[in-house]
Amino acid sequence: MTFSAREREAMRLICDTFAPGDGAGVPAASQCGAVDLTLEVAAANPRAPELRQLKGLLRIWDTRGFALALTGRPQRFSQRGQAGRERFLLSLSDSNLAQKRALFAALKSAALLPYYLRGGGPLWEPMGYSGPLGVRADAPPRTLTTHRATGATTLDCDVVVVGSGAGGGTAAAVLAGAGLDVVVLEAGDHHDENDFDGSEESGFLNLYALAPQATAEGQINLLAGRGLGGGTVVNYTTSFRTPDHVRQEWADLGAKQFVTEEYDAALDAVCARLGVNTDHDRAAPRDAILERGALALGWESAAMPRNVIGCDQGIECGRCGMGCRLGAKQSVTKTWLEDAAAAGARLYTGVTARTVTQANGRATGVEGVTAEGHPVTVRARAVVAAAGAIQTPALLHRSGLTNPNVGAHLRLHPATAVWGLMSERVDPWVGAMQSRYVNKLTNLDGKGYGVLYETAPITPGLGTGFIGWRGSTAFRRRMIELRDSLGIAVILRDRDSVGTVRTKRDGEPVVRYKLSDGDSEHLVQGLVGAARIAEAAGASRITTTHHQTVSYEPGARGDLTSFEADVRAAGTAPGRMTLAALHIMGSARMGDSSATSAIDPDGQTWDLRDLYVADGSCFPTASGVNPMISIESIAYMTATRLATRLA
Ligand SMILES: Cc1cc2nc3c(=O)[nH]c(=O)nc-3n(C[C@H](O)[C@H](O)[C@H](O)COP(=O)(O)OP(=O)(O)OC[C@H]3O[C@@H](n4cnc5c(N)ncnc54)[C@H](O)[C@@H]3O)c2cc1C
Repeated sequence: MTFSAREREAMRLICDTFAPGDGAGVPAASQCGAVDLTLEVAAANPRAPELRQLKGLLRIWDTRGFALALTGRPQRFSQRGQAGRERFLLSLSDSNLAQKRALFAALKSAALLPYYLRGGGPLWEPMGYSGPLGVRADAPPRTLTTHRATGATTLDCDVVVVGSGAGGGTAAAVLAGAGLDVVVLEAGDHHDENDFDGSEESGFLNLYALAPQATAEGQINLLAGRGLGGGTVVNYTTSFRTPDHVRQEWADLGAKQFVTEEYDAALDAVCARLGVNTDHDRAAPRDAILERGALALGWESAAMPRNVIGCDQGIECGRCGMGCRLGAKQSVTKTWLEDAAAAGARLYTGVTARTVTQANGRATGVEGVTAEGHPVTVRARAVVAAAGAIQTPALLHRSGLTNPNVGAHLRLHPATAVWGLMSERVDPWVGAMQSRYVNKLTNLDGKGYGVLYETAPITPGLGTGFIGWRGSTAFRRRMIELRDSLGIAVILRDRDSVGTVRTKRDGEPVVRYKLSDGDSEHLVQGLVGAARIAEAAGASRITTTHHQTVSYEPGARGDLTSFEADVRAAGTAPGRMTLAALHIMGSARMGDSSATSAIDPDGQTWDLRDLYVADGSCFPTASGVNPMISIESIAYMTATRLATRLA
């Protein structure tokens, strides 16, 4: 869908208000191509109604009526000066109406993410960010053979696996290794060291799912990988085994094997294949500061298990969220998919599975379509859905599954940041992706629910999402301060928030999520705990991601008590602060009854025999730790059972 001149002009006005440049070298959003990128990303939304809504908003944006409705004054947006336009945007941000705040948050990220991706040297240099690294001239030749369907295609196999991420990649390897004929369908493309350039722009456009970008209420941004290897290509390599108390909880919910040797063996096999180790944990500056703060409080900080071999733990590692240029990250592309292909699996990229075909109550294969529109039919004895916890329930819905547990019980780890301004250089885009964690507050309720602290490699574009905007000049200052800022990630294990994936008539998923009061309370306690760490580490100013600034300056302005009161007053409602979920789970959960779960302990859907689920959707509850190892272990276990059955 294209945008009219009027719609483009409205978007330009909005973007240039968020990012007007300084007239002295720092470009405005429209001067560096950022507005084009904003519109390109918006047009990638497959949900036509949402796109129509955006276009409608842009058409009325610069009218007197819209200004009157929003601000009480009929002065058009374009007739206001920069200060007036900023006040206009801030009136949305500060509104008591959640929809207005959510609109502000959506516009902010639509404008500022592309700006910091495209802005280039004049934006990055004052921040101390050296920009993309470029594609390696000495990248090793591709070892993995993948296929494209260049016309209408029909394939026959034993098992077709939909999605090639953490779950799908692992399942494909186990099934092919057992001698079964396997076809993998991956919607995205195949990228490796021959393509990775460490640039946020190409990384974001090529390796991440562009939709849905947030929950429908606008409270939580959603981040997932897209392409061969799925999230494991861009993820931060943190490799936790499923904690024992979580395994027990999952067994109590009906899948008994989580507390048996079967799951132990799956975890062992996955950790061995991924080379999980703690030998690549030279602390990045941000992790050294996190650890210093934690230890000063008498809290423990531990080394992170990681799935890397030969990682530089330096400049390269800090850009690894855009793909590992060194090939050190042991993604499923480097491990399980290599095994699968070596055992004869055929890996198709650029094919989106639309429905699971069926006959006599059994799955018989998959119908899909290529990016170019060619139909792809795969006939199989069994289907493994592993398209991730948003797209798997959508595939199941499109295929006619009616069990209400499909798409219910969505679990997230809503995450935010607490910033500490340091007197030392942090360069948060440098160093091992995640090398320390602090688990002091993971059990706030005595039942294993709470928050986990980590840091993450924050490149400029990503950083824009977690920094409040109170005007363009203040925002630019905060972005320059990023180089001296410790960002502590506060990762919440949700307990009773209500999340769903519903699939609309157009076949596209819509994610809804309401943070419960109990989870919100844990989040608040988590923010206070993070502030304590930052203060103990010597931060001179501590700030949350709230859109209305919440901060204090130890010893100079406010204290931990006033900070907690301010956090509580600001709250966690939609559009109040930035929350993002990189861990998306539970939307087709495993259990022992069709009344409470979507799949049985074998991973088979209750509705349709021979249809299995093997990705983050399977989790009975949130894992509480970064989920990759748990996902791969469940996929390993389910695929092992399936291989035995089919043999
Ligand atoms: C930036 C980031 C950092 C992270 N860091 C960590 C970390 O350090 N440690 C950790 O444990 N976890 C981490 N995670 C989370 C982890 O990577 C994911 O939980 C995991 O990859 C999800 O596995 P999955 O199999 O459920 O789905 P995915 O890995 O997302 O794979 C799903 C695949 O299916 C494809 N697909 C979707 N729909 C279709 C369709 N209809 N047809 C065909 N293909 C389709 C997608 O393109 C995708 O490739 C991170 C995630 C992100 C985004």
